[in-house]
Amino acid sequence: MTNKVVIATGNRGKLTEIQQLLVGWEIVPQSEFTIPSVEETGLTFVENAILKARHACIHTGLAALADDSGLEVDALNGQPGIFSARYAGANASDTDNLQKLLLNLENIEERSARFRCVVVYMRHGLDPSPIICSGSWQGQISRSAKGKNGFGYDPVFIPDGSTTSAAELSKEVKNQISHRGEALAKLKRALYA
Ligand code: IMP
Repeated sequence: MTNKVVIATGNRGKLTEIQQLLVGWEIVPQSEFTIPSVEETGLTFVENAILKARHACIHTGLAALADDSGLEVDALNGQPGIFSARYAGANASDTDNLQKLLLNLENIEERSARFRCVVVYMRHGLDPSPIICSGSWQGQISRSAKGKNGFGYDPVFIPDGSTTSAAELSKEVKNQISHRGEALAKLKRALYA
């Protein structure tokens, strides 16, 4: 395989974590190209990750890696799920989204949740067999936001076995145990097997 790969995301938090996890790869952020945004019309993480990876391949001529990820909250029937980035609206900030989540869980005791991540590696836009790997990270939603690291819902996510939020973990620790860390470790094993 070639190690030159475009990372199909405009999310800076994700990009930073992917760069840290793929040390030694020749990574080109999608922002270095003029690529129209792609509509995430899928109903699952895997469909949206494939759409994003294919779109990036077609517009760059490079192999592409896309991550589609989100938070599934059991008491909300798995929401926000694939809508995690746009939970509070199309242009919602991370703070808007997590505040909406805390509000929707205000009187709810059952607060179990998990992050999911699906990564798709496509060699070219017509690749009939992309490599698809997934990871999950189990935890609880806290009652208030804590911590400044990470991104997205990290300040309200308390990983199982931890007393602090994901946003209070160092990037190294988060990458070792997170849904994204797990998915990318599997991808590396699949690519080099
Ligand atoms: P996507 O860009 O459509 O895959 O949406 C991903 C969204 O899921 C992010 O914008 C966050 O809201 C949430 N998310 C995914 N991974 C993480 C994480 O590691 N920490 C916190 N939030 C995350």
